[in-house]
Amino acid sequence: MLSFSEALSAGTAGAAPALEWLVPLLDAKGGDETKLLAAADKLREKTLGNSVHLRGLIEFSNFCRKNCHYCGLRAANKKIKRYRLSKAEILATALKAEKLGYKTVVLQSGEDLYFSSEVMSEIIVELKNKTKLAVTLSLGERDEATYLAWRKAGADRYLLRIETTDRRVFREIHPDSDLEYRKNCLYTLKKLGYQLGSGVMAGLPGQDSTSLAKDIIWLHELGVEMAGIGPFLPHKETPLKDEKGGSLSQALRLIAVLRLVFPYAHMPATTAMGTIDPLGREKALEAGANVMMPNITPTEVRPYYEIYPNKICLDENADKCFGCVTARIIGLGRTVGTDYGHVIRKNSGIKEPNSR
Ligand code: SF4
Repeated sequence: MLSFSEALSAGTAGAAPALEWLVPLLDAKGGDETKLLAAADKLREKTLGNSVHLRGLIEFSNFCRKNCHYCGLRAANKKIKRYRLSKAEILATALKAEKLGYKTVVLQSGEDLYFSSEVMSEIIVELKNKTKLAVTLSLGERDEATYLAWRKAGADRYLLRIETTDRRVFREIHPDSDLEYRKNCLYTLKKLGYQLGSGVMAGLPGQDSTSLAKDIIWLHELGVEMAGIGPFLPHKETPLKDEKGGSLSQALRLIAVLRLVFPYAHMPATTAMGTIDPLGREKALEAGANVMMPNITPTEVRPYYEIYPNKICLDENADKCFGCVTARIIGLGRTVGTDYGHVIRKNSGIKEPNSR
């Protein structure tokens, strides 16, 4: 392994991701950690500028067929009230978002097969016809024909977190998923021309800096264009309820290292970061992140989308939320992005998506 200084020099010089420099950075403490976060922040400013792109998040169904061991939406959780927004409600929420100034909506749900290839395609087509919004989907694992139908309907981007590439850890937390299948979903999404987002959960039981570094190397091989980090937060209605949660500082180091590896990727300061620390999102924005995803789900159902506990921003309506997030961004001396914030494909040869 390299020393911290050697590792930081390698990372800031754009070295190919390798364990010898990723691990020392992921393990950085004290003054070294501060230097790492500052280096990532500086690189973000150089490559992407000071804009923070806002993506309006619509959590439109909390039904899920799966039983991931860390997630409060797991099918076996009978204590949660389940809901589905109608097509009209989804469209009304998106229209409101566009009026407020959002350029992108993220349509997210559990793996709810009610939203079939056809049903979802209709929603995307109508959304594209009625708005100028870019559409990001985050609907989990589906087959290639379905991903293709949604792409043809006009979806621009897809988020599917791999969570971990450690075979043993993946198997232990995903009783009904297969690591190779999920990887194949991501390869398929890439082949279909989606702007591709993935990411990992930090602080899972059995995970260490070496496994996180291997995740980063795999995301690099995949060619991910949006990278999201979620700290593991134990939910009381899940099998992992008694495990220790991930820390803010580990998640921040991971964001910073990802920024060094992916200078142009879009990276969110997630709501989960704001759950473990009231200033967690600001800290993420100062460690390499450049995106925020305010929750614009109707407030009546918002509390029921409880993937992890103690989610913030449950009762703010979309207008108030937009104002609050904008103030936080300006408070950091940054600006709210006014363009679409599409992914930047430097010499990738990938066809540009068809968003307007
Ligand atoms: S993580 Fe996603 S797929 Fe797994 S139980 Fe939660 S909503 Fe379902």
